[in-house]
Amino acid sequence: MADDAECVVCGTSDYEVLLRSRDRNSHGDIVRCPSCSHTYVNPMPTLEQISDYYNGLYSHKSQTFSNEQMALARQSMRGYVAALQKKSRGAQHCTFLDLGGGLGYYSQAAKESGMTSTLVDLDPCSIDFAKKHHNLDDYFLGTSEEFAATTVNKYDVVFLRHVIEHYLDPRALLQAASNLVSENGVVILETDNNRGIELLIRPGSRRWYMDLYKARYHDVTFMSLLQKRPFALDPPRHLHGFSIPNLQRLLESLNLRSTDSLTYRLGDPVYWPNVPDMKFRQVYAPLVKFNVRAVADNMIDYCTLPFRKCLAATGHASGLCIYARKAG
Ligand SMILES: [Zn+2]
Repeated sequence: MADDAECVVCGTSDYEVLLRSRDRNSHGDIVRCPSCSHTYVNPMPTLEQISDYYNGLYSHKSQTFSNEQMALARQSMRGYVAALQKKSRGAQHCTFLDLGGGLGYYSQAAKESGMTSTLVDLDPCSIDFAKKHHNLDDYFLGTSEEFAATTVNKYDVVFLRHVIEHYLDPRALLQAASNLVSENGVVILETDNNRGIELLIRPGSRRWYMDLYKARYHDVTFMSLLQKRPFALDPPRHLHGFSIPNLQRLLESLNLRSTDSLTYRLGDPVYWPNVPDMKFRQVYAPLVKFNVRAVADNMIDYCTLPFRKCLAATGHASGLCIYARKAG
């Protein structure tokens, strides 16, 4: 792996190491740009390492269609459509382009909302699954850049839901989105919020990231993660960590202007419904198996919900969404 660090947002080659890897050949350090606070992996994984990670990742899911996942995608899509309507654009007769859309549940939900729906993904298992289980208007197997190079079509809604953090070159991905969105269209861009601390509040996500970072990096404690905020980098899966200001800056450099932005919590009914909030009636359920630790976790999860809602309102929740248009 070559150590060729350069911030994709501002081009700065200096960096501060947030987490130092125990084995840089397997997982690069997590570093932060001192100029724009963009966080990234250094060195980046090789294409071979990335390919090994994704190869067949979704094949086990490709066998069965999930009604629950479809229902959640429909629930989310109602929220997106409401947001688009607020921006004086209804869903009817819109063209919807789902870049890196995986198994295509969101593409299908868009189709059911009245949009003409196109799915782009580089994973053949995902495209096969979508063709088998959904009723979309178009499918493309390949990268977003390859798709942009092969079409002259422009799209009213370009949807990038938790794709950019996986990309080696986010600038190339956003350039493709900029080329593909129509003059009056909107890019909906979502990713993990690098300014967020919510992942350390919810017991399940806190344990997951603590275990992950302790196994791979030196000197990891709860307080060090709270202070350094390496979220939600996880090579070779997540390679870039953005905040709203540096992502807006990157968009502007590609002729896209943010018209609205927000951060959202785990369990948000529109943006993150697949990790639902803890209900009070669920808190004591693990007692039937005498699992006291799980009850304690559930209680923390339940009681911290108001705090996590405050984090979303103040820009420190786990996800971020930017609605952007072509700059005039
Ligand atoms: Zn930078």
